[in-house]
Amino acid sequence: MAEEEEQLQQLRAKATELFIREEWNASIEAYSHFITLCTQKLFRSHPNQKLRRSLCIALCNRAEARSKLKDFHSALQDCNHALELDNTHSKTLLCKGKILLCLNRYSSALECFRALDGNTESVSGYLERCKTLELLSKTGCLDLSDWVSNGFRGKVPELAEHIGPVEIRKSEISGRGLFVTKNIDAGSLMLVTKAIAMERSIIMGGVQDLSEDAQLAMWKNFIDKVFEFVGKCPKTRGLINRLSCGENEDELEVPDVGLFRPESECVGKDVEVEVAVDMVKLVGTLDANSLTEDAVSANVMRRGNDCYGVGLWLLPSFINHSCIPNARRLHVGDYLVVHASKDLKAGEEITFAYFDPLCGLSKRKEMSVNWGIHCKCKRCRFEGEVFSKQEIREIEIGLERGMDVGGVVYKLEEQMKRFKVRVKEKGYLRASFWEAYSQAYRSERAMKRWGRRIPTLEVVVDSVTDVVGGDHRLLKMMLVEELKKNSGGVVEKDKVFKMAREVFGKVVKKQAMKTLLELCIGD
Ligand SMILES: [Zn+2]
Repeated sequence: MAEEEEQLQQLRAKATELFIREEWNASIEAYSHFITLCTQKLFRSHPNQKLRRSLCIALCNRAEARSKLKDFHSALQDCNHALELDNTHSKTLLCKGKILLCLNRYSSALECFRALDGNTESVSGYLERCKTLELLSKTGCLDLSDWVSNGFRGKVPELAEHIGPVEIRKSEISGRGLFVTKNIDAGSLMLVTKAIAMERSIIMGGVQDLSEDAQLAMWKNFIDKVFEFVGKCPKTRGLINRLSCGENEDELEVPDVGLFRPESECVGKDVEVEVAVDMVKLVGTLDANSLTEDAVSANVMRRGNDCYGVGLWLLPSFINHSCIPNARRLHVGDYLVVHASKDLKAGEEITFAYFDPLCGLSKRKEMSVNWGIHCKCKRCRFEGEVFSKQEIREIEIGLERGMDVGGVVYKLEEQMKRFKVRVKEKGYLRASFWEAYSQAYRSERAMKRWGRRIPTLEVVVDSVTDVVGGDHRLLKMMLVEELKKNSGGVVEKDKVFKMAREVFGKVVKKQAMKTLLELCIGD
C-alpha cells in the first residue's frame, strides 16, 4: 500500500514539474499515467477525499496542457471529468471557459465564468469579453470603425461567429447552395465564420510573383494544418465530411444550417466521428472548398496587402458561383465576413463571383474551366446567343486588335439599340466590355471624340452594378468622377456611400467609411 502511495506521489511530482516547464506532451503522458493509477485505486478503496482532489487537479492540468496543443476536444472531456469530481473547482472552470471561448461557444463559456466568483480581475475580464462576443454572435452587428480609422494599426479586432438568415438547400446551379430566408438589403452581413485553418505567405508583388514551389509549399502546409486539426476534433471531422469533394454533387444530402453553429454539440444523426481521416478524400474536399484571399469578390482588411492566404471556412463553402453575383466577402484576420452586395429577396440563392465577372464570355469560360464549373447563369446564356452574332464578334475582335476604345463602346451601344437589347441585358454586355468602357471614360481624347455619343459614366456604372453588385473598380471610377466634379472636394453623396456598403458591407460608420474610400482611390 505504502509503495503504491509513493509511486503516485512520484508520478504526480514528475508530471507537475514537466507541466511547469511547459513540456506539454511529456506532462500529458505523465498525468495520463497518474490518472489511470489514481482511478484504479479509487475504485478499490473507500471514498477518499484526498485522492479525489489529486485526480481533479491532475485532470485539470492535463486539460490545460491539451488545450495548449489545441487539442480542445480531449481537453474539454478532461474538464468535464474534473468537474464531476468537484463542480466548483475554480481552476477547471476557468480552463473550460477559456477553451469554450476559443471554440466560439460563448453561452457555454459564459456559464463557466459565471460559476466562478467573478471577483478576481482576470475572470471579470473574460466575463465582459464573453458577453460582448455573445451579443455580436447573435446580432452580427460588426463595427470595425476604430480599427479602420486607425489605419488598421494594432491588433485585428476580435470577431464572433454569426449565422444570419440563411439555410442550405438543393441548388439549381450545382449540388447544394446557401439561400437567404428573408429579404435583406445590400451591405447586410449574412455570415461571420472563423477558418478551420489558414496558411499565409508573404509576397512582394501579386500572387503571380509567388513561385510555384512557394505556392505548393503553402498548399502542403495548409493541408497538414487541416489534417492535424481535424484529427483532434470529431465535430469538425463530421462537418467536413458533409462538404462536397467535387463529385456527385447532386446526390449529396442537405445538412441543417444549425449543425454549423459553434454551440451545436453533435454533427447529426449519422455520427461518423470515429472514422479515421481519409487523406485522399480530405485533399479532394479542400480542393473543392478552400478559398483564397485574392479573389475578385473579396476585400482583405489589414495594413499593406503583402500577404496571400488560403483557408477553409465551412458554411461559406456552400456558396455557388454566378456571373451575376449578389454577395462579397471581407477577410478580417482568420474570419470571413460574407455580406449582400445587392438587395436580396427571401428564398434567393446567395452567390459569389469565383472569378472576375467584369470580363467577356470567352474569358469567363476559360476561367471556369480552372474551377471545374460550367456556368449556366442567365448572363452566360444570353451572351452565348449574342456573341454568335457577327456584329458583336467583330467588336470583340476589334478590341483584341487594339481598336480605339471609344469607338468600341460606341459601336456596342449602337448594336444594342439595333438589336433592341433590354435594359438588364445591356448591363450584361457592358459588364463584359467593362475594360473598354473604363478606358474610354478615363481617356480625355476618347471622351472628346465619343463623349457625347455614348451614355454617361453614371448610367453605365449603374447598369453594370445592377449585374455584378458593388465592385471596388466601379466604386473607384465613380469616386474619381465625383472628385473631378467637386474639384477635389469631399465626396458626400449618398450614392457613393450606398455603393461603398455594397463593396465593403456594413462594417464601419460613416467617418471610417471615408477612410475606406480614400484607400479605394489610392489603390
Ligand atoms: Zn455565368
